[in-house]
Amino acid sequence: MRRQPLQCPFCESCPASPVDIDLKSVEIIGGICECGAVYALDRTGHNLGEIFMDALTFLCKGDIDMALSLMPDDYETETLDYDIHTNTISSRPEVSRRSSKLVFIRMKRGNTKSILYKR
Ligand SMILES: [Zn+2]
Repeated sequence: MRRQPLQCPFCESCPASPVDIDLKSVEIIGGICECGAVYALDRTGHNLGEIFMDALTFLCKGDIDMALSLMPDDYETETLDYDIHTNTISSRPEVSRRSSKLVFIRMKRGNTKSILYKR
């Protein structure tokens, strides 16, 4: 299994490793890529549904109502195997091993809500 340094699946830049982020409505371990994608860490790889919702909320700057109103058509998402110790990812999940997951979500281009994290 080839591993590579943490890289955004949408823009191929290398975002910072996940850090603790407290949005009051949610607490996540993650970050924001320069392309506007957000990412959230699931340490165990077993809470993906929950982490995904947290990441969506993070994408909406902590606005849970807005996160709930988003349709799957509004955003694109990618889940990567992530090793927090080496800060590396592998795009093909290793089924034999429980590993941490990193969930990336980005508003689709052209979506009016995509102004949120634009720089
Ligand atoms: Zn990116």
